[in-house]
Amino acid sequence: MIVLKFGGTSVGSLERVREAAAIAAAQPAPRAVVVSATSGVTNLLLDAGKQAARGDRTGMAETVAAIVEKHQSILDGLPAGPDRNETANRIEDLHTALELNLAEVTLAGDFSARLSDRIVATGEKVMSLLMAATLRDMGYPAEAVFADRVIATDARFGSARPDKDGTREQADAIVKPLLDEGKTVVMTGFIGGSPDGSTTTLGRGGSDYSATLLGAALHADEVQIWTDVPGVLSADPRLVADAREVPQLGFEEAQELAHFGAKVLHPRTIRPAVALDIPVRILSTFAPQEPGTLVTRESSSDELKAVTVMKNLILLTVDVPELEDLSGAAAAVFGALYEDRTEVVLAAQASSRRRMTYLIEGGNYGGCNRVCSRLEDVVREREYEVEIRCTEDVALLAAVGQGAADQTRALSRMLGVLQREGVPVLASNQQVSNVAMVAGVPQKLADRGLLAIHDEFIGSRPSGVKLRRQRRSRLMAESVQVG
Ligand code: ADP
Ligand code: ASP
Ligand code: MG
Repeated sequence: MIVLKFGGTSVGSLERVREAAAIAAAQPAPRAVVVSATSGVTNLLLDAGKQAARGDRTGMAETVAAIVEKHQSILDGLPAGPDRNETANRIEDLHTALELNLAEVTLAGDFSARLSDRIVATGEKVMSLLMAATLRDMGYPAEAVFADRVIATDARFGSARPDKDGTREQADAIVKPLLDEGKTVVMTGFIGGSPDGSTTTLGRGGSDYSATLLGAALHADEVQIWTDVPGVLSADPRLVADAREVPQLGFEEAQELAHFGAKVLHPRTIRPAVALDIPVRILSTFAPQEPGTLVTRESSSDELKAVTVMKNLILLTVDVPELEDLSGAAAAVFGALYEDRTEVVLAAQASSRRRMTYLIEGGNYGGCNRVCSRLEDVVREREYEVEIRCTEDVALLAAVGQGAADQTRALSRMLGVLQREGVPVLASNQQVSNVAMVAGVPQKLADRGLLAIHDEFIGSRPSGVKLRRQRRSRLMAESVQVG
């Protein structure tokens, strides 16, 4: 069986929903479709929650009206009849529940992570109903399934971790029988359900992850991520105009790219596919005939394939005067970061063994003052003498490719290019796996560094493929208009 996931832009309007449905219907059964909310709706739902929390009733009502209007414009494309009435009723129920949840936020004066997940799930739930109805209208039996009954997770609202076994059991009990009846299942991306049945989310952009989680639970033959670019490109096309398609990636390369910020894949997407060796394809709904990117166990070449940039990081250095205390102090710091659910993007230890350097996602803290006081408290509690230094507005540049770091002088070439461009390197590392080389740099110089590394290792497009590039630019321009 095949799982196809469609992102927000790919279901961004009535026409796009129809095109996505046609792409899904063209795949052999059994097939499951995973959908994101229509483009813009997740942000609007979050806005509504914030407005509700600060008691801005007028703002909130306007935001809810915009959400309802977006959904209505797609619903209006369905032909009149009992199926549309039934879909309209279910969508209306979801909108009513949304208003009740927002009222609860207003009452509490706090937009808690638990309520946020329940509210934000509305976008995916509505889209699963719309997509299933569109498929039925095209003559394909289809049923919407809400993933809070399928993807079992823990209760970390906002960034829940899946429970593989629970998900397999629920997918077997809920999704499989529908597939066996010959139906196309349309499951909501992004969301899951905690052990007490509350709705959770897998983090922003999490629908990609939902697709591979469902694929792994059902032993899919392939997972297809349908998006608005013709596959994984050698860089974010918004930052590097010359970015080119990457036809093939190994699991590890794709994992590193996603981890280091290539937005085209949620950071955890590839993980569920690895154990069962499920190929993942990244394809464009704007150019369905293009081959896209195929991700499989082995990498087809040992070239450097893509560069990424990850922004809004905090650089921490932890200096420990006593050599023997370094591991203990590091454990205390890691423990606190774990408790605060802060991702450590990079960790390095100086050869003197007295200094640890971390690059962390700073979002949970909101700045150096708060992160330093939090970490100083935990190390002091354990009576370690440490000095913590902190720098904000740091970005991480990564160059990814199997064996790339093995190439002679690859890391020194990368550092040399940055130096030539006047981009100071604050921290650098060559991953032990040799799949990625990374450098922490000041954020304001990151884009310049990214371009320079892309030029150095990937270079401009060979002239023979100029035409394809023009076609891609055109397609991307269209996709931007739709988004
Ligand atoms: P979807 O809504 O389909 O999940 P996203 O917006 O989450 O789509 O991801 C696709 C976007 O990721 C592209 O439009 C592109 O701007 C961005 N992107 C960043 N890095 C890359 C890359 N290396 N290759 C392709 N796209 C990338
Ligand atoms: N709709 C969610 C988001 O915007 C999930 C996704 O698109 O993957 O983050
Ligand atoms: Mg996405």
